Amino acid sequence: MGYKFREVASGLWRFLVLFPQILSVYRRAGWAYFVSSSLLMIYDGVAVSISIYLTKLLIDEAELLWVAHQANEPIDYTTLGLLIGGQIAVWIAVLTKEVLWRPMCSILGTRANYVAQTDLAAKASRIPYRYYEDPTFYNKIEGAGKGSVWLEYIVVFIFQAISNIVSIVSIAGILSLFSGWLSLLVIVAAIPYFLAQLRYILDGHELFHYQGLDRRRLEYQVKVLCDRAYAKEVRLFGFAEHWLANYKALWEKCYQENRSLFLARNKVVLVAGLPPIAAAAAIYIFIVLRASQGSISLGDLAMGLAATVQFSQATTLVANGIAQLFRCGLFVEDYFEFINLPEDNKNATTQPPSVRPDTSAAREPMISFRNVSFQYPGERGHVLHDVSFDLYDSETIALVGRNGAGKTTLAKLLCGLLEPTEGTVLFRGQVVHADSPNALREATSAVFQDFAQYEQTVEDNIRLGDVDRPDTEAVARAARLDRVLTGLPDGLQTPLGRSLDGTDLSVGQWQHVALARCLHKADAQVLILDEPTAAMDPEAEYELYNLLVDIAGSQTTILVSHRLSTVRAASRVLVLDEGRLCEEGSHEELLQLDGIYAKFFRMQAERYQA
Ligand code: ADP
Repeated sequence: MGYKFREVASGLWRFLVLFPQILSVYRRAGWAYFVSSSLLMIYDGVAVSISIYLTKLLIDEAELLWVAHQANEPIDYTTLGLLIGGQIAVWIAVLTKEVLWRPMCSILGTRANYVAQTDLAAKASRIPYRYYEDPTFYNKIEGAGKGSVWLEYIVVFIFQAISNIVSIVSIAGILSLFSGWLSLLVIVAAIPYFLAQLRYILDGHELFHYQGLDRRRLEYQVKVLCDRAYAKEVRLFGFAEHWLANYKALWEKCYQENRSLFLARNKVVLVAGLPPIAAAAAIYIFIVLRASQGSISLGDLAMGLAATVQFSQATTLVANGIAQLFRCGLFVEDYFEFINLPEDNKNATTQPPSVRPDTSAAREPMISFRNVSFQYPGERGHVLHDVSFDLYDSETIALVGRNGAGKTTLAKLLCGLLEPTEGTVLFRGQVVHADSPNALREATSAVFQDFAQYEQTVEDNIRLGDVDRPDTEAVARAARLDRVLTGLPDGLQTPLGRSLDGTDLSVGQWQHVALARCLHKADAQVLILDEPTAAMDPEAEYELYNLLVDIAGSQTTILVSHRLSTVRAASRVLVLDEGRLCEEGSHEELLQLDGIYAKFFRMQAERYQA
């Protein structure tokens, strides 16, 4: 197993390039704290040398006084007193630094974490939606989350490195009084130790990435046993033991991988730690020999020995400190990689047509799909194949097809969240680019099957559809939400969701609230309702049907549904099969065609007739 020089060098280089970005986080977190802590650490580094030098002067002075005492000469303690006073002043200053530095560092770290977390959350919300369809993206998010935590601690390593480097330089100055080569000897001897640390840090980071999927699996396995969503099934099917066994096996695998790396690292680092000790011993012997030959004073001897010990310790600490900084840097790099991901391209914004077009004019399609094919990132096959159709203002169309036919994917393309892999989507004649805040996305509102349940009040749940529009009551009425609201203690003001101590709703009621949120978006010209009645009772479904009939003629609506009773609210039906648009027409036309749609319809109709 050779040494990874290239990887280590490139890691170090990347860390250097990243350093200004790290500093910029600290500049925003509290530059005054950062600068004053740095000054304290510089003082901390110099204090060791000052203290050693004062010790030398003290010993020399004590020796002079002893000689004077032997010769019965008058003794003057002024210099001795001044030197002891100086030493005490240095100690007090070190204590003050210790008292000030830790809280400052912790405040600075907390503030840096705040800056990093807010930047991370804001960034995540600006990243094009397509990233969320790519499983490798979750590694990036996880790495970035961990990196933001490391950003909080990196400052400790930065300050320690400052102190230790200053300490090395100042003690090297003392050692150079004996020989210029002495300090160089210790530094050269510490290089293998330093490189060994870097190498294993790099391996550790690689292992962290390699285990990314396993770590998420472990988290998921714990979640299933702890989360309310699974609690019923865990007990009814009694699979907790089986589940835990899987968890334990995976945990053991990851543990063994980590353990072998730790053991390999410890062996090498221990061996590589010997040369600096040998170098320090050589200097020790050199200074003692010079003292025994009478070439240096007693004070010089004490100073040389103390400086050697401190220098050797500081060198190891610097090697460790820079290696830890390098480790933080690798994780923090993941954070900045995420922060620097391309975002929705604001410059490419196409202005949404604010006024609805004159429908009396020649009929231009509102949305056009031209030979659209789509493939999910990392997947081999296409999910949609060569789909073409036009959608006109105020039209209600239904998308029908088997499970997995591609309806939801098509709906995401219709929202401008995804961009075709091949072909084009046009909104009012302009090509839709999903990586920019496109006019289609701004003009579209939707309820998806996996709609969100916000643990906030009903009112807030609705208002999120358009935060600039405060009046939610009218929308609640329009969405026929009264039956849901009458069952709630504080109506619209009732907090929802059990985990934040609110009232819980049935899935159908949550779906109804999501529908109200969808209707709340003021500028919506297009509504996409993906299985909007899937969880609703017949009464709510009937009301939704009436609502759709009301909306018909004012907003363009796309209904994705299996319930052919709901589909009948549409003037046109598109049937998807294995990602291809295979039938298109009105309900009656498709019945006459006697294809997939007619088959679905007859199957459902038979159930009711029977
Ligand atoms: P439908 O809504 O008609 O049930 P979808 O559009 O949800 O179908 O899914 C169509 C196909 O695309 C399915 O085979 C599904 O497995 C696949 N698919 C959906 N989402 C993703 C994704 N994020 N990554 C990879 N494949 C996906």
